[in-house]
Amino acid sequence: MAKQDYYDVLGVSKNASAAEIKKAYRKMAIKYHPDKNPDDKAAEEKFKIAAEAYEVLSDPNKKARYDQFGHQAFEGAGGFGGGGMNMDDIFSQFGDIFGGAFGGGFGGFGGQRQRTPRGSNLRIRVKLTLEEIANGVEKKVKVKRKKQAPGVTYKTCTTCNGTGQVTRVTNTILGRMQTASPCTTCGGSGQIIDHRPSNADANGFVVEEETVSIKIPPGIEDGMQLKVSGKGNAAPGNGISGDLLVAISQEVHPKLQREGDNLHYDLYVSVPDAILGASVEIETVTGKVRLKIEPGVQSGKILRLRGKGIPNINGYNKGDLLVHVNVWTPKTLNKEQKTFFETMRHNEHFAPKPESSDKSFFEKVKDMFS
Ligand SMILES: [Zn+2]
Repeated sequence: MAKQDYYDVLGVSKNASAAEIKKAYRKMAIKYHPDKNPDDKAAEEKFKIAAEAYEVLSDPNKKARYDQFGHQAFEGAGGFGGGGMNMDDIFSQFGDIFGGAFGGGFGGFGGQRQRTPRGSNLRIRVKLTLEEIANGVEKKVKVKRKKQAPGVTYKTCTTCNGTGQVTRVTNTILGRMQTASPCTTCGGSGQIIDHRPSNADANGFVVEEETVSIKIPPGIEDGMQLKVSGKGNAAPGNGISGDLLVAISQEVHPKLQREGDNLHYDLYVSVPDAILGASVEIETVTGKVRLKIEPGVQSGKILRLRGKGIPNINGYNKGDLLVHVNVWTPKTLNKEQKTFFETMRHNEHFAPKPESSDKSFFEKVKDMFS
């Protein structure tokens, strides 16, 4: 399903300030709030998509990614997936938007909806080498998850009738509204323990180590987050487990530098190799390759190896590997070598004669980005 542009959703321009974005979202949240539009599915959808748009556009990192990649930035294994944000996530934003007046105030749909208890999320960080990023990888990580202990049974909390909330009517800036606070008897889960095995904690959980397999798509970037649904902590009763949130970090590569999907490699060639030409071996993310250096190569020349960069996370394109040639000038010479270069000092072959093909630095940079 094609998603609406987040800026359009909130009705703001692409260069709207953080304050404008917040203001626009506040308006939408009030207009489409489920408590104001009971049983209106269209309003609920608008409410959710506005929250999702705000979640992205209010976070400088996410906003930058969205500006660059669009919705794709949050799809695939991570982000909102197909399901969008859940109501708990949305309401947890409200403390920020409405200055605390509603923090935790709205839970569910004014208490009409039976709330499904949800386990908490677990967070881990996974470090990846550039090679793993380029080729994609399946990582196995060990996580300690809370799980329902064998033999534990739950029953519906009688204080809140399983809704997890106690509702009350209050006057707010949105008018007269039904607000809810978490039920203190069950801690908001709507479930209380019926039978607790001796090894279980107060919620009926035991901690177990589990190996979770995480599929890392090629082209992922440092700072991105993947979500493995259902691999967080368990929830009581028939609730659903939280998610495992995986933050990606990219390890520094000794030779290669990443810039988006392109890679840069600094190649140093000796003066004789630069003059006579040479065949050199360089490292790429898919193994070593041989590279021919033409006789008379100039320092600053950029050799482009097409498709030897990083695959784009959103598509089928691959970045390039840009090899920057640096002619290495020796700092120490023996007497004989010194004499040799002394005699070459006024030799016409050694006098710089830049040709039109020897582009200036700025022209090269311009070419690289065109
Ligand atoms: Zn309760």
